[in-house]
Amino acid sequence: MNITKHIITRNECRLPLVIPREDGRNIPRFITIHETSIGLEKQPAYKDAKHYIELLEHPKGDPRVAYHFLCGDNQVWQLLPTWVRTAHSGSTEGNSSIGVEHLVNVETNFDKAIRNQAKLTATLMKMYGIHISRVVPHKYWSGKECPARLLAGEYGWDWGRFIRTTMDYYEKKDFFSDVDEGVK
Ligand SMILES: [Zn+2]
Repeated sequence: MNITKHIITRNECRLPLVIPREDGRNIPRFITIHETSIGLEKQPAYKDAKHYIELLEHPKGDPRVAYHFLCGDNQVWQLLPTWVRTAHSGSTEGNSSIGVEHLVNVETNFDKAIRNQAKLTATLMKMYGIHISRVVPHKYWSGKECPARLLAGEYGWDWGRFIRTTMDYYEKKDFFSDVDEGVK
């Protein structure tokens, strides 16, 4: 499966870099795991990928809020190049990490989507030399209960299983091959 590139172009760098570099790029040191979740049963089906992508393209609130990837069950979208720093974590350092969102709704297979999220996380670990100890839930940065279903241990998954699955992909070198780093 290839990653669907849907790079949001309204402006490139949403936040100032923590340590400005000559080339103006952010170097990710952490990967932050998110979930678009109020649960499989409650969340209306209209809250699909299109819904979330439109929210990012036409923000009603803080226009700096965005994330890099959205993982569905049979499609993964990349919404920003990995070097872009953006407000997805609620902390300065967290906002320098790569934000990987898991699409949760009634029409998305939770198991398949979270496996895509794990495989993508393994890919990013390999690309940037990020250790598994630096793969963290959104909650790590700000205390927000995200990824809520995963942290609550629902649908047969919990944080430990997600980390083990990510390491499985990493050790088997089962990676995506087409992440956009935004390097020209
Ligand atoms: Zn989150």
